[in-house]
Amino acid sequence: MPLLVLLPVIIWLFIALAFPEHQLLYSIPVPLVVYLSVALVGLLAVVMRQWSQLYWLALLLSSYWVVNTALQSPLSESHMLALYFFLPLVSTAVAIVMALINKPPLFSLKGMLLLALAGALPPLLMVLPLPSYYQAIDAPSFLLSPVLPTSPLSFMVIAVMALVAVVWLICLLISPRQPARWGQLACWLSIALLIIFMQQSQVAAWVVIAACLSILLALASQMLNLAYIDELTQLPQRRALLAHLRRLGKRSTVVMLDVDHFKKFNDTYGHDVGDQVLRLLGVIFAKESGFKAYRYGGEEFTLVFNHNDQPRIEEALERVRQRVAGYPLRIRSKQRPTSSKQGQSKRGKNGADKVVRVTISLGAAIRRPAEPVHDLLKRADTILYAAKKKGRNCWLVRA
Ligand code: GH3
Ligand code: MG
Ligand code: MG
Repeated sequence: MPLLVLLPVIIWLFIALAFPEHQLLYSIPVPLVVYLSVALVGLLAVVMRQWSQLYWLALLLSSYWVVNTALQSPLSESHMLALYFFLPLVSTAVAIVMALINKPPLFSLKGMLLLALAGALPPLLMVLPLPSYYQAIDAPSFLLSPVLPTSPLSFMVIAVMALVAVVWLICLLISPRQPARWGQLACWLSIALLIIFMQQSQVAAWVVIAACLSILLALASQMLNLAYIDELTQLPQRRALLAHLRRLGKRSTVVMLDVDHFKKFNDTYGHDVGDQVLRLLGVIFAKESGFKAYRYGGEEFTLVFNHNDQPRIEEALERVRQRVAGYPLRIRSKQRPTSSKQGQSKRGKNGADKVVRVTISLGAAIRRPAEPVHDLLKRADTILYAAKKKGRNCWLVRA
């Protein structure tokens, strides 16, 4: 696959050498550049197995193809309706479906259907008897009349697209999600802009290329997340910790943190419940301020303070310890009782529907002058071991 990186340069080199006067490079039609860009980004999405981006590229490509093909010749009434009324509404509807469906893999029924929907619905508009559908829409005439001086898009179409853009943006701002989600919004906005500017073919082509760049950035960002963010706890993982330690300041403190008797917890309540605990710890540590938390591995975490102020460190460690120890974990019975009477008699027995708590031990090492980070980390581990020996559910800080 590393060869893939060289592909664009190899193609360029081949054309430049085969056609020394560069006449081919001057005469490459803009739509071909657009199709090539979409194909390259699509290839990258396939290599990275990021199927959701592939569905978006299919919608982008089919919408561009419809616009580009229809504008090649004088527009019939049906094609006018396809471009200015049905395409914006249909592509918006497909975009909403794709944003709501949770990334089905390509080689599944859902995945294939989604690809077919995104790739085939816009071109289908070119052959459907649209005027009869349009007459069936009994909307008030002001909704169907154009608003922009440069485009025949109706008030209804513009209002729907604007509303979807605002709601989508608000949803993403309220709960910021993975970069892929922002890439999806960028892609749909590009389709909306493509529709608004379709009469200016160069502008429309650049909008599609911009969407490809957005998807490329989303893919790169996703890959970075895969490399640095732990899937279970959503905390940065050891690779990110090592990067932080490489640029650690002289006045710093490293804390090793371990869940107490976690093996027994897993044995009693099951590995899945154990995973839930780790997920919860990730949320608790990420919410705390004053340090950066990492998942070191297993049920061990590392906290890094960018200072060596012992009272402040002790205060933070005690706050974290109390927050974890005081958090009630509700363990639900796997076999739900069939009647409420049975449920009442079962509750509290055999771990069914009961509240449990976990505790953590913490060992903090304040960095000594010129102490190598490797030694600092090892010392934090030794201090953690001492905290365990002291009785667990406690912290120790040593300079
Ligand atoms: P101590 O108080 O001495 O730390 O006891 P412990 O049982 O927690 O110690 P130990 O390090 O021996 O056990 C760690 C256990 O953590 C082993 C494994 O079952 C569990 N564990 C490690 N990683 C995961 C994980 O990703 N998910 C779950 N559910 N359990 C994990
Ligand atoms: Mg451990
Ligand atoms: Mg442990």
